[in-house]
Amino acid sequence: MKKGKLSAKTKKLIIKIIAVVLVALIGTAAALVVKDRKTDFNSAQKYSVAMNTVITQKIYADVPGVHIEPVRAIINSLDGYISCKDSESVLSRLNSEGTLNDILIAEALKTCLEVSEKSGGAFDVSMGKLSESWAIGTENARVPSDEEISELLSQCGYEKITLDGSKITVAEGVSVDLGAVGKGIACDYIMTYLKSKTDIKGAVVSVGGSILTYGQHNKAGDEWNVGIRHPRNENEYLGIIHMTEGFVSTSGDYERYFEQDGVRYHHILDGNTGRPSDSGLISVTVVCDSGILSDALSTACLVLGAEKAEALLNEYGAAGVFVDKDMNITVVGDIDFEY
Ligand code: ADP
Ligand code: MG
Repeated sequence: MKKGKLSAKTKKLIIKIIAVVLVALIGTAAALVVKDRKTDFNSAQKYSVAMNTVITQKIYADVPGVHIEPVRAIINSLDGYISCKDSESVLSRLNSEGTLNDILIAEALKTCLEVSEKSGGAFDVSMGKLSESWAIGTENARVPSDEEISELLSQCGYEKITLDGSKITVAEGVSVDLGAVGKGIACDYIMTYLKSKTDIKGAVVSVGGSILTYGQHNKAGDEWNVGIRHPRNENEYLGIIHMTEGFVSTSGDYERYFEQDGVRYHHILDGNTGRPSDSGLISVTVVCDSGILSDALSTACLVLGAEKAEALLNEYGAAGVFVDKDMNITVVGDIDFEY
């Protein structure tokens, strides 16, 4: 095994060290990288660790430093709310009791279930038990037996989650996992905060592989430059997206994985097989006007494979960049991607 053997504490420390080095070198986060041009505004920059990943913030405002902590607090409180790994979270209450009345989680699930339907189940937040069994990204990562996988698959299926306004019900044995959209949801809440503060001129915030760009970073209103990480070389860019305001999410087979007998087992599962997706795509980046959607769609597309993924993005009017196993790059939709 290559990854997954490290203790949570060691991993956190490594993430922190990587973050320090990255911030020192290029001033940004691990998965997606932003290079900004010269600014004529005051700016503050901060990295931190939350949601099991690196957070970077760069805020342009009259007194930019005052906004760093509120943004961090949004991410932390959301993590305590929707993490299925935290037994005290509100989502864990749904998973243990089978029912919950909660507007925040219900709204998130509404979007998730829509993406599930439109992707034919490629995106499916009901696979908590299966993900837990693979445990990819933890020291317990392993390949479950075929029997175990088929047994666990019987406890998965997005149609086992039902919504009635803010009332959520899940069938017995089903465990909801919002891990595929948590970072995107955080970006949505952060965007609402940024927009509510009139002194903020612009900001770029990355929560692991999800990123938002807001407003301007200079008076000229130059575009933001969002770099996409090379899926097989973490020190390299694949290319740069030039964009105005919006949300970007990347899902890849390189974020969390382990190797056994020469096989790479990554953390995005295909509900048809109960195993890591093997669609031919190894990295998908999605750009759209919603954090939760960009995050859900990037996960869905990775499972779907290029052809169906392109159709899904078209349906949502979203844009994207796909990378396949042979490092072929496909650009979909209205996006300015330089590579
Ligand atoms: P990352 O968390 O690395 O940004 P994703 O956003 O693609 O990557 O989410 C992956 C996480 O989502 C997994 O760790 C797991 O918790 C959950 N997950 C895995 N497969 C699926 C799937 N097909 N649909 C929805 N959620 C999934
Ligand atoms: Mg995702």
